[in-house]
Amino acid sequence: TIKSSIKTINPTTGKEEKVFEVMTSEQINTILDKATTAFKSWKNVSIADRAKIVHKIADTMRERKDELARLATVEMGKLFTESKAEVELSAAIFDYYATNAAELLKDEKLDTPFGEAFISKEPIGLLLSIQPWNFPYYQIVRSAAPNLMAGNTMVLKHASNVPQCAKLMEELFLACGLPKDVYTNLFVPGSELANIVGDDRIKGVALTGSEPAGASVASIAGKNIKKSTLELGGSDAFVVLDDADIDKAIKGAVEGRLWNAGQVCVSPKRLIVLKQVADKFTQGVIEKVKQVKVGDPMDAATQLAPLSSEKAREDVLKQVAKAVEQGAKLVCGGKKLDRDGWFMEPTILTGIKKGMNAYSEEIFGPVFMIYEVADEAEAIALANDTPYGLGGSVFSENKERAVKVARQIETGMVYINHVTGIAPELPFGGAKKSGYGREQAKYGIHEFVNEKLIRVT
Ligand code: NAP
Repeated sequence: TIKSSIKTINPTTGKEEKVFEVMTSEQINTILDKATTAFKSWKNVSIADRAKIVHKIADTMRERKDELARLATVEMGKLFTESKAEVELSAAIFDYYATNAAELLKDEKLDTPFGEAFISKEPIGLLLSIQPWNFPYYQIVRSAAPNLMAGNTMVLKHASNVPQCAKLMEELFLACGLPKDVYTNLFVPGSELANIVGDDRIKGVALTGSEPAGASVASIAGKNIKKSTLELGGSDAFVVLDDADIDKAIKGAVEGRLWNAGQVCVSPKRLIVLKQVADKFTQGVIEKVKQVKVGDPMDAATQLAPLSSEKAREDVLKQVAKAVEQGAKLVCGGKKLDRDGWFMEPTILTGIKKGMNAYSEEIFGPVFMIYEVADEAEAIALANDTPYGLGGSVFSENKERAVKVARQIETGMVYINHVTGIAPELPFGGAKKSGYGREQAKYGIHEFVNEKLIRVT
């Protein structure tokens, strides 16, 4: 038997299913060399030829949707329906970049009195992509799709609990005609990445994950003068104004917070409600949450899946217990289920005050925190009183008012009358401690290209 941290432990059963060997430094060295060589030819492949391969990847993901989805559910526990939706979204992102890269990367003319000038957008080389487990395919795709289309090559360091998804994607890319060494998995624990991040062959680093991982990677990248993008945690505010459609807000909050068992960076973690509608909203949320069916993620009737790991569940339960100890009110939930796997009850907390841990921490699980505020100004102040700045929502039937509030929320994204979502053509990313840089849309494909000025006199 292999001793390794890189393994599948099925969150539904708690059983270890597959273990992978950690790569040696010699193996990694060879991979980085080959990926560096592969860049020299991949950057010269036409965008049209790259697009053919990338469209084929999208088609193949759709054809093999059930197989891919099942594996994601086995490795990190999400609902099978959510896994299938993730595969569809991933395919859509591949198609988006395959279709639009030529336009997004074309020369950009600049107005100047000194003759002709334009920006040529050129790939920069081999990138290191470090990704988390919560969307095992989508997280790969949103960094691979734009960068492969831009002509960069990539090594992927996926989270240690989803190695089979990582491996399957590498195989699928090759089977669709992506040349060897353009995209390669690294099976190595996050704690051993420092040398790779600092390696001169790596020209840029894209990380999605926690604040400590982000800070470590960005500081090593900075020391080596290489670009990084960080997509970190969030504790998004979901603001319900007094003129909101309350039923719509209740539905959005409950579905949004339970999505992926609450393990979404842009999940509506703090529900901030104006006092005029607080009772109606809170009662509605409680009613719905109490009816939630927790169970087997393969069962189409299940609404709440297990958490991704024993430690993930332990961390969330500890945060809930701490909040209660510090004076918050536990309206429902707060316990693990008495069965195998990493299941817990959906949980609602109220009465959270500044100074309590829960006020400023991200809770990465199915925990609703409901805050009642006196007015719009207090809602905005509370929404911004957090180290994070990822997404957010404003619910109001007055569009102008909602947009005015949205402009005052210090995050990278605000959705009106909807939970923060994901679409290939819309950018994704944060402000403050949620990181910097953007993925998806035209912004995502410009992060790791050299926007080179060429002036002709
Ligand atoms: P994590 O521990 O930071 O893991 C994320 C990735 O970073 C994994 O591949 C991990 O590898 C690696 N890693 C860990 N420590 C590292 C280090 N010191 N140097 C380099 N890489 C390191 O994150 P997590 O707690 O599993 O994931 C959840 C977090 O990600 C949450 O805070 C969530 O909000 C955030 N997230 C953000 C977004 C976004 O777009 N903003 C999207 C999804 C998730 P190992 O698995 O081997 O440790």
